[in-house]
Amino acid sequence: ADPSSTEENSVNQDPTSGQGYVITEPDEENWNLILVNKTHRLAENLEIETRSFGSEEVDARIYDSLKQMLEDGERDSDREFLVCSGYRSVDLQQYLFDNKIQRVRDADPALSYDEAYNVAATEVAIPGASEHNTGLAVDICAIDFQMLIEEYEETDEAQWLKENCYKYGFILRYPNGKTDITGIIYEPWHYRYVGVEDAKKITEQGITLEEYLGED
Ligand code: ZN
Repeated sequence: ADPSSTEENSVNQDPTSGQGYVITEPDEENWNLILVNKTHRLAENLEIETRSFGSEEVDARIYDSLKQMLEDGERDSDREFLVCSGYRSVDLQQYLFDNKIQRVRDADPALSYDEAYNVAATEVAIPGASEHNTGLAVDICAIDFQMLIEEYEETDEAQWLKENCYKYGFILRYPNGKTDITGIIYEPWHYRYVGVEDAKKITEQGITLEEYLGED
């Protein structure tokens, strides 16, 4: 896989923050290395086949790896995982986001649209800017620790995943101390599929997907 071939085109500007972003185009060949963040956004739903994983959906192409990883992690142990968030379409995210803006403006009619947008963006992911829009990201918690808070990292589940995820093609996507690069707080529960080969390189080098793709 050639990380540099991630397709990008027009530069756009966030209507309120003025932050520039590019539209991330799906790439059939390097689908596993798609970069989605606040500066690399999906303009529309990806055309992917999803598959149910518990109560969530994931890209069907990562189903087997995810299943194997969690089964291996639970085998001969007291660990019990729960995939608590998977695929979310850009359309659904847009709906949730627009609703949030409306509720913010209802609560404070004095706010301009731009101001309401900024408030909404602190609580709901901007449509197309969430890695959950790809179907390649999952939030994994423990059955007996279902809070997505930093203390989750202390659980046996979180520690096993961190140590072993690369063997199954996953990376811990938002590591501690990398917020400047990822734009996202430390999230010990958020795992992203990139494939075994790339996960190994990223993990060995101790870098983020942005750095690996030269987009930091
Ligand atoms: Zn997540």
